[in-house]
Amino acid sequence: MCAIFGISGNSEASNITYLGLHALQHRGQEGAGIVSTLGSRNFLFKKLGLVSEVFSSATLAQLPGTSAIGHTRYSTAGGNAAENLQPIVLRTSLGWIGVVHNGNLVNAKPLAKKLEQMGSIFQSSADTEVIVHLMARSGESDLVKALVASLKQLEGAYSLLVMDQQYLIAVRDPYGFRPLVLGNLNGKPVFASETTAFDLIGAKYEREVDPGEMIIVPHDRPAELISQYPFRQYEQKKCVFEHIYFARPDSVVFGAGVYETRKALGKRLAQEQPASGMDMVIPVPDSGVYASIGFSEESGIPFEMGIIRSHYIGRTFIEPSQSIRNFGVKLKLNPLSGFLRDKKIVVVDDSLVRGTTSKKLIQHLRESGAKEVHLRISAPPTMHPCFYGIDTPTSKELLASRSTIEQMKELIGADSLGFLSLQGLLETCGSSAGTGFCHACFSGNYPTDSLN
Ligand code: AMP
Repeated sequence: MCAIFGISGNSEASNITYLGLHALQHRGQEGAGIVSTLGSRNFLFKKLGLVSEVFSSATLAQLPGTSAIGHTRYSTAGGNAAENLQPIVLRTSLGWIGVVHNGNLVNAKPLAKKLEQMGSIFQSSADTEVIVHLMARSGESDLVKALVASLKQLEGAYSLLVMDQQYLIAVRDPYGFRPLVLGNLNGKPVFASETTAFDLIGAKYEREVDPGEMIIVPHDRPAELISQYPFRQYEQKKCVFEHIYFARPDSVVFGAGVYETRKALGKRLAQEQPASGMDMVIPVPDSGVYASIGFSEESGIPFEMGIIRSHYIGRTFIEPSQSIRNFGVKLKLNPLSGFLRDKKIVVVDDSLVRGTTSKKLIQHLRESGAKEVHLRISAPPTMHPCFYGIDTPTSKELLASRSTIEQMKELIGADSLGFLSLQGLLETCGSSAGTGFCHACFSGNYPTDSLN
């Protein structure tokens, strides 16, 4: 998963892009980059690390111009090497082209192989680079036409920002897998993966970029947005996991508030999978907090922060010697021992993937004296890998793909285990008759041609 941000017609384009990326840091922590443009030139800086570590006032000062696009990376395709960081900026017969991408392209590998056989030289293993190579070989002399020709050959998920010396272009794949929103800052356009970036920079949220829509912004007339729908129409397949886990709770995603949706998922969970006679509802922080509030409101069981989360876990944690074991989960999540003694608790989390978090956590909750531990998950069991940009492990590693709910309960050591139903999830997210969302990770129904 990744975040993208772009702006045109602002004398502080790079500084604002930096702030936007900062607000979107949760979508990718491996590296970040910005490319800006002034006159006919581009200015690029990208590096491994968090947004605040990557950029300084000095580096931002070297990114002049009134238009910029930026990216934070979470590798789902290609490795986490520096060469795979974005923006990708390549020189082509169309001039230089910069691209930032959120999503995964299902057919990138065979396309890249074909392009290499024809002589293309790739700088990275990231699927995004394929987009630019296809543009360069399109035979079109116009950036917009070249982009459309390239995207028509791709299958999968893309929310993209593309920039050259003349235009900033925002485009979302026809299924609309990944989010992309349009905002207004002083009458000029801004684009971001999520609206929380607009809150920080003081921009007004206008609307989603529609699935299959391309919005073209000329750098010299940034207030003039040109909207086109160049692709065949498909049924929309917005990623339901954005609502469950991925997006920030203070964002509006796919037209709905994430906080409100997560609370509503918790309420529905309490109706479908009640836990009677409990002393308290406890979230797995932070991801389970919002569904827990909903669960508590619906069930009348008091909400308590019975597990405290450390927010200071660096990416390079040095494990001490063998004398101290089981660090993983305890380092991040610590149950309140005295408080939980002899209590019957219902623990709520947003998803269960490999089951490692819940297994360790339940063990620690019992060590802390909890009498009964019942686990409730505000999503259905994750049974299938995602090929559209969420970092889900292979089927083999997914606990639910090889065990029944009863077996999972035994394996993680819970007194009871309950999941939200797929129908409950989709209805709560506002789907009519189960349409509008991609739920392949729960159902195995992959929307794109080559996967179904
Ligand atoms: P697991 O321990 O593998 O069962 O993972 C479950 C935990 O990971 C839950 O607390 C989720 O909030 C969190 N989670 C779910 N999906 C992802 C993801 N794609 N990336 C990072 N964390 C996730």
